[in-house]
Amino acid sequence: MQVTRETFDEVMVPNYNPAAIVPVKGLGSRVWDQNGDEYIDFAGGIAVNSLGHCHPELVAILKEQGETLWHLSNVFTNEPAIRLAKKLTMATFAERVYFANSGAEANEAALKLARRYAIDHFSADKNQIIAFNQGFHGRTFFTVTVGGQAAYSDGFGPKPGAVEHVDFNDLSALEAMMSDKTCAVMMEPLQGEGGIISPTQEFVEGVRALCDKYNALLIFDEVQSGMGRTGHLYAYMGFGVTPDILTTAKSMGGGFPIGAMLTTAKIAASLKPGTHGSTYGGNPLACAVAEKVLDIINQPEVLSGVLHKEQLFRDGLKAINDKYHVFDEIRGKGMLLGCALNEKYKGRARDFLVASASHKLMCLVAGANVVRFAPSLVIPDEDIKQGLARFEKAVAQVVSA
Ligand SMILES: *Cc1c(COP(=O)(O)O)cnc(C)c1O
Repeated sequence: MQVTRETFDEVMVPNYNPAAIVPVKGLGSRVWDQNGDEYIDFAGGIAVNSLGHCHPELVAILKEQGETLWHLSNVFTNEPAIRLAKKLTMATFAERVYFANSGAEANEAALKLARRYAIDHFSADKNQIIAFNQGFHGRTFFTVTVGGQAAYSDGFGPKPGAVEHVDFNDLSALEAMMSDKTCAVMMEPLQGEGGIISPTQEFVEGVRALCDKYNALLIFDEVQSGMGRTGHLYAYMGFGVTPDILTTAKSMGGGFPIGAMLTTAKIAASLKPGTHGSTYGGNPLACAVAEKVLDIINQPEVLSGVLHKEQLFRDGLKAINDKYHVFDEIRGKGMLLGCALNEKYKGRARDFLVASASHKLMCLVAGANVVRFAPSLVIPDEDIKQGLARFEKAVAQVVSA
């Protein structure tokens, strides 16, 4: 059956508006479309394809597990899930793991756990959740309500209650909002969708101290920042500030859908049998792939490689900006970088994305003012060089238009 981008509009719910091309094949950081045109991928499936497309070790483990055992449900456990959980606990602060299929589901579990823990250990009134403006935590109704852009949660009727927002990096606003009624504070240790905004060291430490003071759980949403993305296995490690609950997804599966919530044994105890669940969570196919992703990424040379590649990006982007003067700032960490447009180009991030696509480069935006790059953590240096050359042409095109 012949299908095209036009078929999409005939058969799909119109909640997405994908690009005009239809990709059909990927290898490493290159992608080909239906016409055989080759693209360099600086988007990485929105910070998901952490080892590029069709990484041979991931393909091998997927085939192997595919010929062994696909699915059981949580009526039974399975070896890949147990091994992956064991490795995650060995590599992080966590002592217990809950598997989900996406970032939003990992966050949904984290929020429900925080509420339940407060009821178990304090009182039913300790139910306030504080999160940050411009934050993003997923699209289920609870997680999108906790996210800091009301536009995404408006228009669906009554929202889950006791959710408050304050400005990111504003410790006194958080302090003013917190009380013994606060059960959790949820934040991204590097805001992704909101515009690649780093919290200050002082802010992260301050949030931790306030959570301790009010017996509130600190939830780090590392769905985008986690699994090597910032050059640390998890971004919290770079701050030296440990959350009570951490969520991870995106890069974790390298493209296979999986998410996880990590926490301590004491907190985990509140999710007793029957309190929460997922049919597919901990699926052996997903866990086998994610175990291999973790094995590959959690090596010193891969993590330091991320910082080396960040420098290549920063040097290249700076050279482009010295010539064309379009950015105020190049921000972010590791392979999660944002070019914040200056006053003259404000609101035009999409124009840069469209121009990049016309020069066969896939990139992303983060809001209207930031061009975002979230490529593979092992993107070859040569692809960075060639991709940046394409980006320079795209920038020149926007500037001269
Ligand atoms: C992408 C993202 C999510 C949602 O993940 P899904 O897999 O799309 O549900 C949640 N939090 C952050 C920080 C994200 O970047």
